[in-house]
Amino acid sequence: MTLPGAEAEFAFEVAVCRWVEREWPPGRDRDSAVLVARQLGTRSRRWDTVVIECDLAGLAARGAFGEQALNSDLLHVVRNAPADWGYYRDVLPDPGYPWRYVRDAIHVLSARGALEHRKRGGRIEIRRIGPYPDWVRRIVAIENKPDLDRNAANVLADQLERDVALGLADEAWVATRATEDGAERILLEDMPVEAGILLVSDAVGTDVERTTAEVAWHPRSLAVDDPGTCIEENPDSGGFDASAGRFEYMSVDEKYEKRLALAERAYERGWRSYVDAMRSDCRHFELASAGDALVPWCGAKERCQTSAECGSSCGEFEPEPPAWRQRGWPIEGGPGRGVERVLDRRRERQRPTPEE
Ligand code: SF4
Repeated sequence: MTLPGAEAEFAFEVAVCRWVEREWPPGRDRDSAVLVARQLGTRSRRWDTVVIECDLAGLAARGAFGEQALNSDLLHVVRNAPADWGYYRDVLPDPGYPWRYVRDAIHVLSARGALEHRKRGGRIEIRRIGPYPDWVRRIVAIENKPDLDRNAANVLADQLERDVALGLADEAWVATRATEDGAERILLEDMPVEAGILLVSDAVGTDVERTTAEVAWHPRSLAVDDPGTCIEENPDSGGFDASAGRFEYMSVDEKYEKRLALAERAYERGWRSYVDAMRSDCRHFELASAGDALVPWCGAKERCQTSAECGSSCGEFEPEPPAWRQRGWPIEGGPGRGVERVLDRRRERQRPTPEE
């Protein structure tokens, strides 16, 4: 399977996610549960692969709050809700925004079974279903660039410098494809020393069964417990740009909130959620195996497609014939629903529940 440009990057990203899920942490015994997600980050920075190293008991306890992510408004309620009934305005800290949003959050949580609420004398009282667990141990951000050239290496170095300065993740890595001549090693010399480097031999486009990876450089732990620096503008370090840089600072509390929100989104989405943004109900949509990972495959284009092109604007979209759905394959609905179920089941296996 030979893939061009963006499709090859997507397939590489999926292969890296699968490898991380299987092998993380590289070179060490696994002493925590691992959740992997792709394309997550903040308003100004999105990482290709995000690894959440979790406390296993905490992760299982997190399962009681449902599969969906808890955003900052919902987290404010579940983290502060009391064990005994109380009027919500008395028992929750002032949120710093209007209380009506807190009421909305209470109703959302209650509908999900993540909080109890009742009305007493016209007042809303709440009670937690259990303490919100401390389930996130470490967050690792990986930037994937399968085919490095000088320009791509310069852009990567700049991105990683920003990641190091901000210190939102505990570690920052770059993952690139290992080549036979090792040319990528020269290009990687300009990366910040704090960033780790993974050389990946991906199974995409080969008949190798499993993606493997080698650590070419071990990362340093970033200062997640210190205030971070957001580099808004970074003048050319070569000396041609004399303009001043622009920076903003992120407090330790803000970092903590952002890390937790990031982990929550990773918990909900995992890395197989690419199918959610694709037309799995198209008759040409398939899953193909790339080594031990499953990647989407378009039968019409005869290649792996990205979520950007596999949407309602695709000129080759054709709905599944109704007859496919009537046969009830593989369980109910058409093949597209079957694909979603396969990926959902694999995502579920990474999220233990309290009973498990
Ligand atoms: S034809 Fe278009 S919509 Fe259908 S699977 Fe291919 S890319 Fe997706």
